[in-house]
Amino acid sequence: MSDEHELKLLNLDWHEAMRLDRASKKGDPEALAFFADVRSGKGQCLICGANLEDDEGVAMIVPDPGASELLALIGRQCVECNSLTWQVRAHKLIKLFKAMYPGWHVARGSARPAIRR
Ligand SMILES: [Zn+2]
Repeated sequence: MSDEHELKLLNLDWHEAMRLDRASKKGDPEALAFFADVRSGKGQCLICGANLEDDEGVAMIVPDPGASELLALIGRQCVECNSLTWQVRAHKLIKLFKAMYPGWHVARGSARPAIRR
C-alpha cells in the first residue's frame, strides 16, 4: 500500500453506486465493506485536498463530469467539507470540475453531488 496521501477516485456505474448507497443504509455487509474500503488507507479530500488518514472522512458519490454516460465518481471528503452546506459544497465542486475538465459546464443536475457515507 502506498504511504503517500494521494487523491484516490474510482468510477462505478451510477445505478450500481446508488444501489450500494441504499444497501449500506440498510446495513448490507457487502455495501458497508465497499464504503469502508473507500475510506481505507491514506487519501485526500476530493474538495479541498486535505490529507486524510486511514478511515478518516466520509465517502462521497458524485456524477462524473468527464463521462458521457451516467458514471459515478467515488472519493472521500474531510469532516470539514462534509459539514459545509450543500450549496457551498456544490460551488466548490463546480470550480473543481471546471479545473479538471476545461470546457465543462454545469448541466442540470450535474452538480447535485454529495451523497455520502
Ligand atoms: Zn475537505
